[in-house]
Amino acid sequence: MQVAIDGPSGAGKSTVSRACAKELGYIYIDTGALYRAVALFGKRNGVTVADGIVPLLPQIKLDVYPGEGGGEQRIVLNGDDVTQAIRDNDISLIASRVSAVPAVREFLLNTQRGLASRSDCIMDGRDIGSVVLPNADVKIYLTATAETRTRRRLLELTQKGDPLAEADGAFDTLLAQINKRDSDDMNREIAPLTQCDDAVLIETDDLDFAGTVAAVAELVRGRK
Ligand code: C5P
Repeated sequence: MQVAIDGPSGAGKSTVSRACAKELGYIYIDTGALYRAVALFGKRNGVTVADGIVPLLPQIKLDVYPGEGGGEQRIVLNGDDVTQAIRDNDISLIASRVSAVPAVREFLLNTQRGLASRSDCIMDGRDIGSVVLPNADVKIYLTATAETRTRRRLLELTQKGDPLAEADGAFDTLLAQINKRDSDDMNREIAPLTQCDDAVLIETDDLDFAGTVAAVAELVRGRK
C-alpha cells in the first residue's frame, strides 16, 4: 500500500502521517526533509541563490531511515545526522527555494521512489500524488487556512521555548512566511503543490488531531 499525503506547510501532514503509520503498521517517509537536507548542504557551503546548488548536487549523499512504529524519520547527510538541524526556520525558507530547481527535484525523485518501494508506506510532501507516486493506492490533500496553520506553528514554537514566538508581531511574521511558502510551492513551474483530481480533500481547521488521524486511517482501510 502506498499512501500519498500532500498539502501546504503546517497543515499537520507529518504528525498525522506519523500517527497513521503507527496505527496501520506502515513506514512513514517525510519528503520535505530531503529538500531541507539539500538546503542545509547549500547553506553550509555558502550557496545564496537557489540554482547555485546544482553543481553541488553530486557531492550530496543522503541516507534516509524512515520512521517505523510511529518513530521519527532520521536523515543523514554525508555521514552527519541532520535530523534536528534541518528543522531550523531559515532552512524552511531555503528548502522552499531550492525545491523550485528542476535538477534538485530530479535528484531526489529516485530516492523517494526507492524508499516507497520498500514496504507499505505513508509518504508526505507536495507532489507525492502528482509526480512521485502517481499510482498511490490512496491520495489525500490535507489542508487548513493559513491562519489556522500559523496559530499551530506559533504554539509549536512557544512549546519549544523558541524566542521567535515571543517576538513582537510573531503571528504576522509567521503568517507572512506561510503565505510566501504557499505561493512559492503553488506557483512554481515544476511539480507545483496542487490537489490531484483523485485525491480526497481533508480540511483540518475544525478537526482535532485524533479526528484527522481517524479520518485518514479509515480511508486507507477502506481501500485495502
Ligand atoms: O514539508 P516541509 O515544510 O518540511 O518541506 C520543506 C520544503 O520542501 C517545502 O516548502 C517545499 O517547498 C519543499 N517540498 C517540495 N516537495 C515535497 C516536499 C517538500 O517541494 N515533496
